Amino acid sequence: PCLGAEHSGPLARHLTVPVKVGNVLVGGGAPIVVQSMTNTDTADIAGTVAQVAALARQGSELVRITVDRDEAAAAVPKIRERLDRIGVDVPLIGDFHYIGHKLLADHPACAEALAKYRINPGNVGFKDKKDRQFGQIVELAIKHGKAVRIGANWGSLDQELLTALMDENALQPRPLDARAIMREAMVQSALLSAGRAEEIGLGRDKIILSAKVSGVQDLITIYRMMAGRADYAIHLGLTEAGMGSKGIVASSAALGILLQEGIGDTIRFSLTPEPGGDRTLEVKAAQELLQTMGFRAFVPQVAACPGCGRTTSTVFQELARDIQDWIAASMQDWKTRYPGVEALNVAVMGCIVNGPGESKHADIGISLPGTGEEPTAPVFVDGKKVKTLRGPGIAAEFKAMVDDYVAQRYGG
Ligand code: SF4
Repeated sequence: PCLGAEHSGPLARHLTVPVKVGNVLVGGGAPIVVQSMTNTDTADIAGTVAQVAALARQGSELVRITVDRDEAAAAVPKIRERLDRIGVDVPLIGDFHYIGHKLLADHPACAEALAKYRINPGNVGFKDKKDRQFGQIVELAIKHGKAVRIGANWGSLDQELLTALMDENALQPRPLDARAIMREAMVQSALLSAGRAEEIGLGRDKIILSAKVSGVQDLITIYRMMAGRADYAIHLGLTEAGMGSKGIVASSAALGILLQEGIGDTIRFSLTPEPGGDRTLEVKAAQELLQTMGFRAFVPQVAACPGCGRTTSTVFQELARDIQDWIAASMQDWKTRYPGVEALNVAVMGCIVNGPGESKHADIGISLPGTGEEPTAPVFVDGKKVKTLRGPGIAAEFKAMVDDYVAQRYGG
């Protein structure tokens, strides 16, 4: 049946056991946490510190770093120290594959400096070795009091489990198709490993689960299945989402639907950066998704119309860009003086068609004159027209009005 107005807004959050990762709470109804991952060689201490700091300053509340060999493991405590020295206290997560058990055992300072260990159940080892190596990592997490993310991944799915499920499926009177079996294997891989970690003695309050795939529909199905079967905290992300707008759109579509259904306690946008591109884009995109859906507020939002044949001059686009950049630059100062300013809504609109209406819905909005309109720009504050700006100083005057509004509303 169609969902009516009584179902507007997100569904209740899927209740999960809260997990403390350093000083950040994940799950249990806590605000959805934004996280990201570096793409530097972790053995490059200076490069990794710089990128972790940039991600954290952009608002990444957890940052994951690759720990793939001895040099990287040895660098981790030094990275932690340097970050602490420059006042960046973001918890670090170690991403381990294949030899995590060995690296954590051989580098106790690394095991201590990390707030969480990510284990991939698909490549922790094979057969008996798998159990032993997985167990060793879990025991080290218990010893150091750390959280663990059990992160299954489509690209490195536990082949033994998949084969066993396929064999079992072949004997069924109505076997499932191969894709359904792979989805089931992803979910089981994460849940069976979590159960095993609990048997070894790791508390449920130390376990976060993920099961990442690169297909939007697969991801939605897999996370619904996982959330329906357990109450572990959930890390949500579309793996290998891709470059540019493709990655952002695919991640937003998949994560948006699941978040709307109450699924997901921490999110990551796995975007492929352009060569030399800005890694912090994945943090901005994740924040924008959460803010645009109304889950959290990070920076004031500027609503601007797309412009059309009624805005043939560039005045409107220039003002929209100018206001957006000015707000971003002002945030450093505003954040300390005006708590709650992140929730501010500003509208910059192109003409009389939707301009006044949209501006009225914003906290403060301006409607510029479109082509052929009177050269005036009405300003609306809390839904009421308060002033009409004219002439070349419109941008400066509007900024002053926004500044006053922020001071009055959020200045306490
Ligand atoms: Fe075009 Fe005016 Fe609509 Fe903007 S508000 S898209 S300028 S009609």
